[in-house]
Amino acid sequence: MSAFDPASFLREFRAEAEQRGFSAETLTSTANGPVLAFTSPHAGPPAYLSAGMHGDEPAGPLAALELLRSGYFDQGMAWTICPALNPTGLAANTRENAEGIDLNRDYLRRDSKEVLAHAEWLESRDCPQRFFSLHEDWESTGFYFYEINLGEDHPERAATILDAVSPWLPPEPEALIDDHETRAPGWIFHRADADLPDLWPEAIFLAKRGCPLSFTLETPSSAKLETRIAAHVAAVTAVK
Ligand SMILES: [Zn+2]
Repeated sequence: MSAFDPASFLREFRAEAEQRGFSAETLTSTANGPVLAFTSPHAGPPAYLSAGMHGDEPAGPLAALELLRSGYFDQGMAWTICPALNPTGLAANTRENAEGIDLNRDYLRRDSKEVLAHAEWLESRDCPQRFFSLHEDWESTGFYFYEINLGEDHPERAATILDAVSPWLPPEPEALIDDHETRAPGWIFHRADADLPDLWPEAIFLAKRGCPLSFTLETPSSAKLETRIAAHVAAVTAVK
């Protein structure tokens, strides 16, 4: 796979976002460019989407760009978007950042400057009412997602997501995914606690802050890039 160039991706993302009235903010800088956050000019309940946390998962950033271009973020909610959280990992095509830290286990300890800046920035803002994080899985064959839900249970929403993705990817068939029992094929209903107490992912950090509903979407890296991007876009847009 060709390496993903975070600098040119961010230039493209930024140009499109600014054209739509979003403001860009630099959270911190890295050897491969800044970690940027984009804030919508629209009013509404706060919502938040992140991607590019793991540098060997390019489908998420590219899906965020496609959602931006489609106008998805221009309606309904006041979105903030962090489309490329790990510039050094994205440039090197590695899961971890250049210091070897898995950013998505660092939201309690904050050993990395990327997560330190990102977590403090999130804490300075209204807590999002909805959160999507876009990821890939190198071991799965189908699509799956984690739901953390501190509010009302809506099982039909999970079915809607899987149904929207089905033209591109089947639900992951394994009943046990990453040591998590599925509630239905492709659907992990996760409690608001980290699997390992001091290694917090972003979604656990946000749940602890009070974000009532989050979806961590996982597409299989073995599928074609276009398929992974389309699956992410379908899943995000399926949640009403
Ligand atoms: Zn990931």
